Amino acid sequence: MDTGTGTGFEMDFGPSSGWLESSLLDAGIQPSAVTDIILSHAHPDHIWGLFAKTAVPLSPMRSTTCLKQEYDFWMSPNPDFSKCKLNHSDLLNIIIAKTPIVLKAMGPKLHLMQGNEELFGCIRLELAPGHTPGHMITHIFSGDEEMVHIADLLHSDVLLIPHPEWGFSGDTDLDLAIETRKKVMGVLATGRKKVFAYHRMGTDRVPNTGISFNPVFPPSGHSPFL
Ligand SMILES: [Zn+2]
Repeated sequence: MDTGTGTGFEMDFGPSSGWLESSLLDAGIQPSAVTDIILSHAHPDHIWGLFAKTAVPLSPMRSTTCLKQEYDFWMSPNPDFSKCKLNHSDLLNIIIAKTPIVLKAMGPKLHLMQGNEELFGCIRLELAPGHTPGHMITHIFSGDEEMVHIADLLHSDVLLIPHPEWGFSGDTDLDLAIETRKKVMGVLATGRKKVFAYHRMGTDRVPNTGISFNPVFPPSGHSPFL
């Protein structure tokens, strides 16, 4: 699920990027054994790692899934960033130019869903728009157990758990992202769901204003917080 930034698109995301292949091997997983990939959304730090080098897939994967809303947004001639607060047009222009190349390179292996579908009898996709138009969270279930990958619903756990009414300047639609964050986190908190996020959660915070959520860390000290 999601692939990191990779190194194949001539953009330096720093020394901590581009480790997917070696990390898989460290975990005892051959990249060629990865058959199906789910993309929470199409930001570079989630999809550019699909390729070891430009247009050379990291693995001979069978399928990659993302939501059609996401694909349509990035493939449109002029994706609408008028509700985005990112003050870094050079970066945005590079991302807008390169993301369609990555998505197109998947060819017929890219499967477009609408949200609310089940995959493989253990995964359910759910549209959670705002961070990007087709940003989704992913429910992973088995029997009565469930864990939810909330992707970039919280881009910073330190800031946005106590302040879900705040946002991230990279959200494509900042206000919609806030609305979605409050709604989805409310549902997950009510259901006492275990969650994990793409960007690390490492700090237990006591919320103090607004609608807030209280992270509960399991005895292992690892990240699921609701
Ligand atoms: Zn993102």
